[in-house]
Amino acid sequence: MTSRFTPLRLSTDGRRELLNALIARSAETLGGLPPLIVFDLDGTLLDNRPRVVAILHELAGHWRETAPAAAAALKTATNEHIGYGILENLARFGVTEPALQQAGQQFWFERFFNDDYLRHDVPIAGAVAFATRCYEAGANLMYLTGRDTPKMSLGTVASLRDCGFPIGLVGTSLVTKPTFDIPDDRFKRETGALLARVGPVLAVFDNEPANCNALLECHPSCSSVLLDTHHAPKPPELLAGVVVIDTFET
Ligand SMILES: [Mg+2]
Repeated sequence: MTSRFTPLRLSTDGRRELLNALIARSAETLGGLPPLIVFDLDGTLLDNRPRVVAILHELAGHWRETAPAAAAALKTATNEHIGYGILENLARFGVTEPALQQAGQQFWFERFFNDDYLRHDVPIAGAVAFATRCYEAGANLMYLTGRDTPKMSLGTVASLRDCGFPIGLVGTSLVTKPTFDIPDDRFKRETGALLARVGPVLAVFDNEPANCNALLECHPSCSSVLLDTHHAPKPPELLAGVVVIDTFET
């Protein structure tokens, strides 16, 4: 995956240096408190494209008789076809007729934001090892996500557990939106202001430039790291100090 931020990515050596320094600093305390590392999930620790592919394959089955051409195209979907935006993804398979687009979007919506489909997500390269090494070195980990508590929190715990991320342990927490309709960026900004009650923020990782900026503004001494996977349209420029990587491989 590439984006307009791809030219800003650290070199492989630069990324390794950053991540290893954060692992080392995970052992340091500040004012007697362990440092906190904050991870977004979708597009940051987890690649959710397989979730979209699974839904498109299911949609292909659903449309087998009513829209056979669209169904045949959707059956061929793989991770490489998936980008940001369900309408754009559907259009990539020739689904451009408004009624079909609307039906496809509704089918996706009812499944994508749902516990049952989170098992399809897979870790971004190196993410499990990096989070584990930070945790074992002494950092507290917070998974701070725009997923909502009512429909996605249980599936998220199961997904983190099954992928092998530290969860359910002292010093780990999952923070989700109380309701679906809170805008993600507002939720991250407001929650960012509360993080100091847990501990000094060492680093934040997010795939949305707006969130990297907001969290850096809340915690100017932290490392704010953009995962250059995919992001919402019309992102802001990154603040000076936000660094860009695309994997967690050390
Ligand atoms: Mg995300």
